[in-house]
Amino acid sequence: MAGTTAQGVSRWMVCSKSPQTGAFARSVCGADFGAWLKFAGYEIIIVEGKAENPVYLHLSDDKCNILDASEIWGKDTKETQAWLNQSHGRNTRTACIGPAGENLVKYAAIVSDRRTAGRCGTGAVMGSKNLKAISVTAQRKTYLADTEVYNKLAKEQIEIIRNNGGFKNHKEWGTTNTQDITSSIGIFPTRNFRYGQLTDYENISGDKYRLLRTGDMGCYSCPARCGKVHTVTSGVYTGAHSEGPEYESIWAFTGPIESSYIEASIAADELCDDLGLDTISTGSSIGFAYEMYEKGLLKKSDTDGLELIYGRHEPMISLITKIARREGIGDLLAEGTMRAAASIGQGASIGAIHVKGLELPAYEPRGAKSQGYNYATASIGASHCYGYATQDIFGAPFPRPTDRFSEEYADVVIFNQDGSAFKETGIICAFAGGWGWVPNLFGKMLKAARGIELLADNKYLDKVGERMFNLERAFNVREGFNRKQDTLPERMRTEPLHTRRAKGEGQMVSHQDEFLDKYYQLRGWTKEGIPTEEKLTELGLEFALKDMTGKNK
Ligand code: SF4
Repeated sequence: MAGTTAQGVSRWMVCSKSPQTGAFARSVCGADFGAWLKFAGYEIIIVEGKAENPVYLHLSDDKCNILDASEIWGKDTKETQAWLNQSHGRNTRTACIGPAGENLVKYAAIVSDRRTAGRCGTGAVMGSKNLKAISVTAQRKTYLADTEVYNKLAKEQIEIIRNNGGFKNHKEWGTTNTQDITSSIGIFPTRNFRYGQLTDYENISGDKYRLLRTGDMGCYSCPARCGKVHTVTSGVYTGAHSEGPEYESIWAFTGPIESSYIEASIAADELCDDLGLDTISTGSSIGFAYEMYEKGLLKKSDTDGLELIYGRHEPMISLITKIARREGIGDLLAEGTMRAAASIGQGASIGAIHVKGLELPAYEPRGAKSQGYNYATASIGASHCYGYATQDIFGAPFPRPTDRFSEEYADVVIFNQDGSAFKETGIICAFAGGWGWVPNLFGKMLKAARGIELLADNKYLDKVGERMFNLERAFNVREGFNRKQDTLPERMRTEPLHTRRAKGEGQMVSHQDEFLDKYYQLRGWTKEGIPTEEKLTELGLEFALKDMTGKNK
């Protein structure tokens, strides 16, 4: 539905095998690129093979050219997009990589405008193909099966959104105040997931970020404009200017190193967007390094002279550039926490906070267990973009309320995961999808967009979500994944959480095996977490069986 009059549906997605996890990767992004792809008449681009020298792909409605990128190889994402705009004109939009993708940092991102397809290292996939950017030049155009009905439904959608309280709040704050909630309930991961709260968490509140806000930015045709722009006007980071940080990046550059210096988080966010890094894995890898330094497993001689002491934000800024360029200690951290811990040895793995190799986002699993079990079982590893447990975090009552400390909600985890999947058929933004118009209106709009009757049937859409999730699982099974990798990090299972002033002190994850048994049973999978022939056949996915030969036990 991208590029149409509907609101919040112009997202786009990158899928690949992840260099970070070896599992299925999907990473969603905003800005205008999705709409422009559609204007030019493209819905899917498949990139195969590798160019001999750096190239970029330029698409327009009648051409697809592979062009020389030697002039922009090595440039940051701002410079790259400026160069491509100048070369192809103002009706051009670009998704590109920065130095981190070129240097195959395992968690390199793809950047469009100032938004990122951040998770799973898809920027490194582009880098491995010598593909610096994909640019699209197009005039606005729509391709709808029934334009009249579609536009009428889009007007209904606008009306619903306009009157929705969640929308109004999101328009005002974006996610720049989510930490007010997560800190107060003790699930704001601090000191590499050892605490659930900063000691002075009031200093990173939404109100404090509000003081540095200088603008709003949004994705194509979305009235929320939830990207809040911040500018630093005093101190050592004067001049730092970023569309963000949003919640995850606020956390990534405060919690892991226990710093409440919000100017540093703005500078770090800008740097990651310029260099093309996923902020979550970057912040988490840096938090891991601080813990290793505290434990003496990394010494000053290992860190290029940097003193990684909690509360000090200057080393974090230096580490970001080192990671993107793979310089010194940055080369180790560019591999992500799972591989860095394996290189260090000596018990370092307790500080590697990941699932399947993907670092955890900003919600502590011991205080939000359905969210945690989503991380453990999600196809891509630990992601908040996927199966987000609004029940645990915001007290959402559907499909039923949860007790956030309980490990019994396998059905809710499945509901959240399949729900994320089917919304991404739009591709509808996860926020817009929560503003009261899914699924009834969503199905009708999909039908008007594509002319496929079945899409208006909610039950069918539920099956679409389940089918997507099972297909991703089949992909992972083919790659050797099973129950063994569906696990929360060791720290969550063996160390109690410390929440300081919040509820939840001493919480741990204690019933992972029971949870998985129930989850697999509800999914219709074997005890090893393998989709059965019966389940795949029911979903019309029997073609995937041959790739799972010998693994379908
Ligand atoms: S809510 Fe924010 S992220 Fe979602 S489409 Fe709108 S501007 Fe983009």
